[in-house]
Amino acid sequence: MKEINTEILIVGAGYAGIAAAKKLYAAGKDFIILEARDRIGGRTLTENLTSGPSVDMGAKWVGPTQHLVWEWIKESQTETYETYEQGKNLLKFKDKISSYTGTIPKIDPISLIDLGMAIHRMNKLSEQISISEPWNHPKAKEYDAMTLATWMDKHIWTAKAKHLFEIGIQTVFAAEAAEISLLFALFYFKSGDNMDTLISIKNGAQQSILKGGTQGLAKKIAAPWMEKIQLNEPLLTLVQHETGIVATSANLRITANKCILSIPPVLINSIVFDPPLPQQKAQLYQRMPMGAAMKVYLIYPSPFWREMGYSGQIVSDEYPLKVTFDVGHTDSDRGVLLVFVEGNDARNFIELEEDVRQKMILERVVKIFGHQAVQPLQYVDKCWTEEVYSRGCYTGLMGPNTLTQFGHQIRAPFKHVHFAGTETAEKWNGYLDGAISSGYRAASEVLE
Ligand SMILES: Cc1cc2nc3c(=O)[nH]c(=O)nc-3n(C[C@H](O)[C@H](O)[C@H](O)COP(=O)(O)OP(=O)(O)OC[C@H]3O[C@@H](n4cnc5c(N)ncnc54)[C@H](O)[C@@H]3O)c2cc1C
Repeated sequence: MKEINTEILIVGAGYAGIAAAKKLYAAGKDFIILEARDRIGGRTLTENLTSGPSVDMGAKWVGPTQHLVWEWIKESQTETYETYEQGKNLLKFKDKISSYTGTIPKIDPISLIDLGMAIHRMNKLSEQISISEPWNHPKAKEYDAMTLATWMDKHIWTAKAKHLFEIGIQTVFAAEAAEISLLFALFYFKSGDNMDTLISIKNGAQQSILKGGTQGLAKKIAAPWMEKIQLNEPLLTLVQHETGIVATSANLRITANKCILSIPPVLINSIVFDPPLPQQKAQLYQRMPMGAAMKVYLIYPSPFWREMGYSGQIVSDEYPLKVTFDVGHTDSDRGVLLVFVEGNDARNFIELEEDVRQKMILERVVKIFGHQAVQPLQYVDKCWTEEVYSRGCYTGLMGPNTLTQFGHQIRAPFKHVHFAGTETAEKWNGYLDGAISSGYRAASEVLE
């Protein structure tokens, strides 16, 4: 077993671990990063497809208020382009297809008011939540005792509005409303500005796309100290003593003064700690399951829907296709249609054989766009629940009684171990920007 001695051990080379390393490197500190996978980037993964385009199988978008990601984009001189939004969006509901512009589909006036009111209420409630201590809100216990689905049953009257709201929730959380506590949802909306921002393209979280992908950005930022990253070395044990830590993976034994753990919360309990994690922390990590999302890309010779006057955005009530986006470059030759399958749909859909999945998705798209959609150049899909070192996405979620009982543990250090990762972020929790801020915070804690 190889012995390494360093000042600081970072575990995980996702955006959080890379941000922590960037800060420590700037401060002239000695550090090592242990990464379980054979690549860096974590929940970002950019693939060059045989049909031409490069696509993000993981995180893709950057919104205008995600300032820390924009700092990296500028520093690395990465080019960006905007998500295609021209033309009409399509809503498929109970076999009727209608077109609309903007974020909210054109539905009957009663359902539209109902839906608008629900989003307005969410925004008003979330406005009052502190992103640093959501558990301190006077009604925190009440909000944390119910799921978002219970709140929807109480406050949304029409079936259509409830259905569309649910699709919005699945798109934002990659989970069902019944899995999430109301308090966690309010915190999450506030953390990302508000619900409107999270579901929007223009001025929202889905506005801009990086040329070279989000994993490409991670590689550029990590380039100055890439040799400090030990790939294929999942952390197995972490022993703490008076003055530091001893960590082991299959091939390495690392001694360090401090450790920054930047892996998804759901994976933390799989590490053997000595002394063991404090019971409240261990209980918290038992309660932060990952959402489930599948990304499906259909690559066409051209974005033919643009010529038909459509934006490529579809909202549909038919399993498994609920939401699509045109993520091709504005002047690209290839048509790149991104289909999201989320929550329980993703958990079930991935169980089918790939040719069956492809057939089902294409049938849905053909129903909406017609025969031109029949034969894409390429079909690719990826379900993140199958990834052993993520176990889902986009982020770790909280059901009832978690934020109020255990939330205060999320950023609490444990002796020499400090905790980063997007799930620990105040601002843009669950997103790349939150991962970066969490890495910077953990690095500051260690430097202090
Ligand atoms: C399909 C999908 C779509 C998304 N869309 C967006 C989007 O459009 N915009 C956005 O901002 N965010 C999006 N996200 C969320 C975003 O990707 C995450 O918030 C962010 O990447 C989390 O970074 P992190 O560093 O906190 O965690 P991770 O990226 O999960 O990094 C953790 C790292 O730790 C490693 N690891 C795990 N266990 C161990 C171990 N035992 N030892 C060593 N290493 C270990 C992992 O391999 C990984 O590299 C999306 C995510 C997915 C998957």
